Amino acid sequence: MYKLQKEGYDAYLVGGCVRDLLLGREPKDFDVVTNAEPEDIKKVFRNCRLIGRRFRLAHVHFGREVIEVATFRGPGEAQNDEQVLNKEGRLLRDNVYGTIEEDVWRRDFTVNALYYNIKDFSVVDYVGGMTDHKAATLRLIGDPETRFREDPVRMLRAVRFAVKLGFNLHPDCATAMHKVAELLSRIPSARLYDETLKLFMFGYALQTFEMLRHYGLFQILFPSTEQTLSLEEHDFPRLLLAKALANSDKRIAGGKTVTAYFLFSAFLWESVQILAKQKIHKGAIEFIAYQEAANEIISRQVKSTALPRHITLAMREVWSLQPKFNARYGSKPSRLITHPRFRAAYDFLLLRAETGGADPEVAAWWGNYQLADDNEQRKMTQPPPRKAANSKPARKRNYRGRTKVKSAETEA
Ligand code: ATP
Ligand code: MG
Repeated sequence: MYKLQKEGYDAYLVGGCVRDLLLGREPKDFDVVTNAEPEDIKKVFRNCRLIGRRFRLAHVHFGREVIEVATFRGPGEAQNDEQVLNKEGRLLRDNVYGTIEEDVWRRDFTVNALYYNIKDFSVVDYVGGMTDHKAATLRLIGDPETRFREDPVRMLRAVRFAVKLGFNLHPDCATAMHKVAELLSRIPSARLYDETLKLFMFGYALQTFEMLRHYGLFQILFPSTEQTLSLEEHDFPRLLLAKALANSDKRIAGGKTVTAYFLFSAFLWESVQILAKQKIHKGAIEFIAYQEAANEIISRQVKSTALPRHITLAMREVWSLQPKFNARYGSKPSRLITHPRFRAAYDFLLLRAETGGADPEVAAWWGNYQLADDNEQRKMTQPPPRKAANSKPARKRNYRGRTKVKSAETEA
């Protein structure tokens, strides 16, 4: 910011960082806004890259950190080359530059439209953002319905900020959201994937989930999951997902990381199971039924939130390892434990066991097995002694073992 100032430009901190600093919280990132245009910004900083089409932005690199530097947006004419609306009122491109007084109106919530001026260390507020901030209110700038139509992702942002900051949605904002929630389905799936990560990976997943459902937004992000939730019997299917989200929040609170594929595995597991069971009912072999169900559910999901290949690959692994936990004798456990996805799959097994979807005794066995030394592990995987009268050839015994595994999984 000082560098921009030295070159004669204005520079402000804006958005989440100002809002969060006023709450005494550490901002996730710092957004800088300036009257320098992207090409000018590029001239000021050597390590600068211009990105974005919908919003053209400069990314200024400082070592491993990237500071986003945006140029003030102007109001533009409703329809011209630089600002494009579609017929639902959605902004497809918005690259009209302007002044700070104009820029403020393009921002979403009043509390996100506070500018911190390094010139005199003041906060510039054109929209009553400070008052709303004090009252812990999320209020859209301008007419809520129009603003949601311009960019339906603002509805997800409303939920995210309400939960994260503990702010209340202004009633007008809430009303508009109920009205136009459906428009979220028109947003490209790649953007919805990014937004979904922001919603669920930062420590408030459970509350966010509840609120998204309340506003009818969850069903747009996860249509198959929503279906299983409404099929809910004795509170059963919903348990696994809610537990997964709560666990992930707890991990983050404890300074641990969570992975996107684990969460997506949890989101879609019930759907995969229900579909697989239908296939088995129609005569499909269990292993194939699960594989096909995973494929189908994933290809339905990517229509809403695009999923990168490495994520879907990991999800399939987590799912396909589940039945393998039932094989506890012989050499299989020692092989399973070396699988790169073992840890995540085991955590997923625990989740299923805690929510009635897997045998808790099996989960406990795997807990012990991981702690055991080589010798103990060998003992644990010895098949139980057979009665002499029942003695059968080894191959037959393996076969029985496998049948048992499969039927346990079918019931899961
Ligand atoms: P955080 O970074 O903590 O998630 P943030 O408010 O900084 O929250 P960013 O996505 O970093 O969110 O955006 C920075 C600022 O840009 C916002 O505070 C807001 O003023 C503006 N902004 C971002 N996305 C939109 C949008 N979809 N519509 C209008 N303004 C937006
Ligand atoms: Mg930010």
